[in-house]
Amino acid sequence: MLLTVNNLSVSFGGVHALNLDHFSVGEKELRVIIGPNGAGKSTLLDIICGKTRADSGEVTFKGKQILGKNEVTIAEMGIGRKFQKPSIFPELTVYDNLLLAVKTKKDIFSTLFFRVTPAIADRIHSVAMRLQLNGVMYKLAGALAHGQKQWLEIAIVMLQDPTLMLIDEPAAGMSDEETEKTGGLLLELAKTHSIIVIEHDMKFIEQIANNLVTVLVRGKRLMEGTFDEVKNDQRVIDCYLGR
Ligand code: ADP
Ligand code: MG
Repeated sequence: MLLTVNNLSVSFGGVHALNLDHFSVGEKELRVIIGPNGAGKSTLLDIICGKTRADSGEVTFKGKQILGKNEVTIAEMGIGRKFQKPSIFPELTVYDNLLLAVKTKKDIFSTLFFRVTPAIADRIHSVAMRLQLNGVMYKLAGALAHGQKQWLEIAIVMLQDPTLMLIDEPAAGMSDEETEKTGGLLLELAKTHSIIVIEHDMKFIEQIANNLVTVLVRGKRLMEGTFDEVKNDQRVIDCYLGR
């Protein structure tokens, strides 16, 4: 397994946000996590990427314990995180946003002497191609459609060369057409990367869930199964209707 989580416990001021017995993701797996608001989904990703501290438990990535390591170290080990909030620079072009993502991976010394080599330009263009941004490279990021902004964010994470990508609610606020396109892009990325996606939209989940879906409720793992198993599970139906 690429990522393994065991007995992870996190509380905020005495409130248990997460009490997760087990969770693991394999190489080139696209795993979907669903669950009602406040279930602890974002908290789980925050812990995996080192943004939030856990009280106890174990998180191993590529066989190494990562719990307690800082965000920079975990990112360097190969975990990339796309947050719900936008982090692009709207006054820069798409290309410059992507270039910046390559630069900021480096230390300050190499940033000073940074040169766009043909290899770097190729990498930027190939990532832009995978996220279908190649037609808007010289547009200002702020002028992009909502969907394209989200794909640019994913491209920025890709350029940090992660093995595992953590993506929180990628289809939030998207039109049906953008949502479907996002699903196609994620399935394409999953050919080369492991991806954990948190999502609400059932139609979107059905499109991307070619593997297991994990259901979190009140910090606990309620069940794990294929999309059909999860969709037809009475406990899952109850917790969605009851919210
Ligand atoms: P989800 O992403 O599934 O909607 P979250 O992981 O955001 O849920 O939140 C899980 C629980 O932890 C919620 O009760 C939330 O209010 C609480 N929580 C999350 N982050 C913090 C924080 N930084 N401080 C205090 N409580 C938090
Ligand atoms: Mg959340």
